Amino acid sequence: VLFSLIDCNNFYVSCERVFNPALEKKPVLVLSNNDGCVIARSNESKSLGIPMGVPVHQIKDIIERHQIICFSSNFALYGDLSNRVMHTIVDWLPDSEIYSVDEAFSRLDNMALKCPAQYCQDLRQAIYQHLGIPVSVGLAPTKVLAKLANYLAKKHTETGVFYLHKPEVIERALKHVAASDIWGVGKKLGERLKTLHIHSAWDLRCCDPHEARKHCNISLQKIILELRGESCLDLEKPAPPKSIRCSRSFREVVTSFTDLSEALSTYAANACSKARVHKLKPSVLTVFLNTNPFQKNKPQYSEASKLKLLVPSNDTREIISQATGLLREVFKKGVEYKKVGILLSHFEAQEGSQGDLFHFFDDEKSQLQMRTLDDINARFGKDALFIASQGGKKPWKIQRKQVSSRYTTHWDELVRVYCR
Ligand SMILES: [Mg+2]
Repeated sequence: VLFSLIDCNNFYVSCERVFNPALEKKPVLVLSNNDGCVIARSNESKSLGIPMGVPVHQIKDIIERHQIICFSSNFALYGDLSNRVMHTIVDWLPDSEIYSVDEAFSRLDNMALKCPAQYCQDLRQAIYQHLGIPVSVGLAPTKVLAKLANYLAKKHTETGVFYLHKPEVIERALKHVAASDIWGVGKKLGERLKTLHIHSAWDLRCCDPHEARKHCNISLQKIILELRGESCLDLEKPAPPKSIRCSRSFREVVTSFTDLSEALSTYAANACSKARVHKLKPSVLTVFLNTNPFQKNKPQYSEASKLKLLVPSNDTREIISQATGLLREVFKKGVEYKKVGILLSHFEAQEGSQGDLFHFFDDEKSQLQMRTLDDINARFGKDALFIASQGGKKPWKIQRKQVSSRYTTHWDELVRVYCR
């Protein structure tokens, strides 16, 4: 068995650099929604000691002193580049599991490759040449070791590819890594292992897997076996979502029903289009809202309202109209809202869902209209066509002061090349 883990280096920062090469070798940060926290760091920012997830206001000084360049998150760009990277990976390695926005596990053992490491080297080159995104590749006989190999590829290689298979190299690597840094272990379990005198990944590997299962759980048993080179975790097929949730915190509080319902309509539209991608229709719909729980001196309010639809539907218009009705039930005047959101759940398959005898609804027409809406937005940009109740100006919209252009998904935001 042979697995690879391909991971994009500092993915969001790398996306920004693709269209802005002046950022190369400079310290760069990408910030979360509303520019609150650090969610991606270039190597240069990492070596300045900026931790992941730190609130921006705590590092104002360092940012100024080192002239760190900050970006608001541009998920339209990152999502599109992620799709392109994954496409290339699946082209080269058809047996792949897209694990996250910037990571994919693959199996290489049934591909009859003469030299897997060279093949991955070539793939890495292709991704860089086609998309400008640097990736690192870890190769190993199990997923847990492939994850470790990827870490070693990033830290200790020039080539960006590390094949972890020689027993003595595995031993040396495991002795240098903390047990809590192994994929699937985590901080909490790591602390517990420490009390049992298990500190390094090598200590963990030397534990009796059956004892580990007795004292902890089957996942830990599997991790130990995987560390020993015995593959127990295979590629996973993506499971359809059990629920879809869309919500955001407002930067400034929102008090008016109109603003709140515009925001909710927008989230409902996003949730519906996600449900249509998966060909699922929710039969239960929940709307929730709350004030800012961190402002303890202000009156707190938090409420949710739920509804079972007579007929499951992923028609944006139907869901917006039901959601607005639910919002009316829980909305209180004079309250300062920080967040509103929607949850779609209890899905049925889009094809062959049960209608209602007393509720006439032209499902075929609805699906056709929704497909047209999705097609237009896929072609002309996400909000080219939207339901009027989503609002046009969107004063409640999250603030992203330093967002870069949507270079690959919006015609108006393509890179300009000036000629004289
Ligand atoms: Mg990454």
